[in-house]
Amino acid sequence: MKVHDHSQNENRGSVSSGVKRRAGGSPKKSLGQHFLNDPAIAARIVDAARIVPGETVLEIGPGRGAITGMLAEKADRLVLIELDGALAAMLSERYATAENVRVIESDARDLDLDEGGDLPEVVGRPYKVVANLPYYAAANIIRRFLESDNPPTEIVVMIQREVALEMAAPEGKMGLLSIATRFYADTEVLFDVPGAAFIPPPKVTSSVIRLVRREDKPLELDDEAAFFAFVRAGFKAPRKQLHNSLARGLIVEVDEASEIIARAGVDSVRRPRTLSIEEWGRLYEARTALESSPAITDGP
Ligand code: SAM
Repeated sequence: MKVHDHSQNENRGSVSSGVKRRAGGSPKKSLGQHFLNDPAIAARIVDAARIVPGETVLEIGPGRGAITGMLAEKADRLVLIELDGALAAMLSERYATAENVRVIESDARDLDLDEGGDLPEVVGRPYKVVANLPYYAAANIIRRFLESDNPPTEIVVMIQREVALEMAAPEGKMGLLSIATRFYADTEVLFDVPGAAFIPPPKVTSSVIRLVRREDKPLELDDEAAFFAFVRAGFKAPRKQLHNSLARGLIVEVDEASEIIARAGVDSVRRPRTLSIEEWGRLYEARTALESSPAITDGP
């Protein structure tokens, strides 16, 4: 992956001689560019991040900098990660003399958060992620941070309202995205932002959501990826009863799915969304146990 550190290059910028144009030109649909145009909402987002002196903050997709200035004032160290090269160059120029700000031109989905990776600022240290995320990549970006070995203490981001509600869904109504989020973080939808607050306005409503990293994960797992692959299989047919959905997802006979569910002590006629994370954990364990010691059959 190619990461450019524009803080090293003060001469790169988007201002052409004579003609004054918007940095980055017209908003790019393909990059989910809806720029926040309401300073009061920008201030509410920054307030929601509860930044205290000495903290490091990562802003993903700073764009034209709607919340960046306020973050730069509050954070001890601010790292901006922007995929649009023209905007990254503009921000590099704007913050060329700000010692606490570093600009990286990169796709946030590809960031290497490990030791020796792209972000030494986050290795083994507390930090927060604050952003108005592009809709198309929001869930992937959040997942990358949640699942990292160097996760942030808090993520405060604006995303599509439907996705925010799904991430924060209460127990009894949790889909795959809810489980994959709440496994790692306590999740709360803070407030809604109408499309009119952006240029250009998106067709959907946005919400600001806060994810606070859980001190203890709800399950002790050897292989989290295998667990989530199993849960994904359980949601293959989310409206069907659990044994049918799981059988389809695992590509096994309904009897085998029912055996797993019975061993886990779960009622097989329930719908996948009604299960708790703990129940998914029991199902996963039952499946693993059944695989290592299959039920005794009559034949040789
Ligand atoms: N923060 C600005 C604001 O509130 O006005 C811009 C928000 S806009 C919804 C999303 C920003 O994320 C754009 O600047 C876009 O170029 C950037 N972006 C899009 N995809 C990205 C990615 N994969 N990684 C990093 N930045 C990305």
